[in-house]
Amino acid sequence: MSSIDKKTKYKKAPSLKKFLIIVHTGDGKGKTTAAMGMIIRTITHGWNAAVVQFLKKETAYKYAEQKLAKKFENLDVYTIGAGFTWDIKNKETQIKKTLEAWEKSKKLIFSKKYRMILLDEINYALDFGFLDEKEVLEVLEKKPEKLHLILTGRNAKKSIIKKADLVTEMKNIKHPFEKGILAQKGVDW
Ligand code: ATP
Ligand code: MG
Repeated sequence: MSSIDKKTKYKKAPSLKKFLIIVHTGDGKGKTTAAMGMIIRTITHGWNAAVVQFLKKETAYKYAEQKLAKKFENLDVYTIGAGFTWDIKNKETQIKKTLEAWEKSKKLIFSKKYRMILLDEINYALDFGFLDEKEVLEVLEKKPEKLHLILTGRNAKKSIIKKADLVTEMKNIKHPFEKGILAQKGVDW
């Protein structure tokens, strides 16, 4: 195909601006990182973006995501969680915090202030049963038109995958954790 043909074909293609529901799932690394890549693109273009970090403990780390929000006035980051733990006693707190993060997420989604919102680790919250799947689906259904919405975390629900426009599964081939090497600053947080 000559370059002229290519151009003609391209011109004929409808120019669609589509706001997406995006899911990053799977057992390999990169779900949050890739989502943050899109957040960085969005804020660099000058649009507003927000991140809600589910499950992560509010005070555990100085996450790079939180530091980024200090540098960009068009990025808001909320870390609302009790931390990952299998401690039964902590389950109630985890549920309470998850619901708090969800309430915050809904406010941000319907505020129409943001071009992109990342609900980080929300898939885990759904998988653990801390959040109602139907309620999340309803919000996806009613999402404002001009909003890209990203949901990350392992074990994404089938219903969410079905509803999404763009779904990527990160596959673990090898991870340093398997050799006892823990999270590295700059790579993991
Ligand atoms: P990242 O935030 O680095 O993009 P992720 O969002 O894909 O990772 P999560 O399930 O949120 O993965 O896990 C967060 C942490 O667990 C990160 O420190 C990450 O390096 C680590 N991790 C991711 N995949 C694996 C794996 N297969 N085995 C062990 N640790 C992992
Ligand atoms: Mg993650």
